[in-house]
Amino acid sequence: MLHTLIIGAGPFGLTLAAHLKQTAIDHLVVGKPMEFWEKNMR
Ligand SMILES: Cc1cc2nc3c(=O)[nH]c(=O)nc-3n(C[C@H](O)[C@H](O)[C@H](O)COP(=O)(O)OP(=O)(O)OC[C@H]3O[C@@H](n4cnc5c(N)ncnc54)[C@H](O)[C@@H]3O)c2cc1C
Repeated sequence: MLHTLIIGAGPFGLTLAAHLKQTAIDHLVVGKPMEFWEKNMR
């Protein structure tokens, strides 16, 4: 069963996903990874 839904795949969302993976908590990340950075950083 899905336990946690993470909305947004920026640095904080991906960090949370990595942490949950270590603790074996089922989770789903929605969004394109690092989309804000890809579009806005030089
Ligand atoms: C112009 C600018 C320059 C910056 N330069 C730097 C830098 O050089 N170095 C540095 O360390 N920090 C920099 N920052 C700060 C850095 O961008 C933020 O601290 C960091 O991106 C925050 O991460 P976050 O995961 O909270 O949010 P974000 O990076 O914003 O990630 C959130 C993601 O969630 C997505 N999202 C939102 N709503 C939904 C939804 N409903 N469904 C799916 N996806 C969704 C967004 O599209 C986004 O991709 C800069 C910020 C700005 C504005």
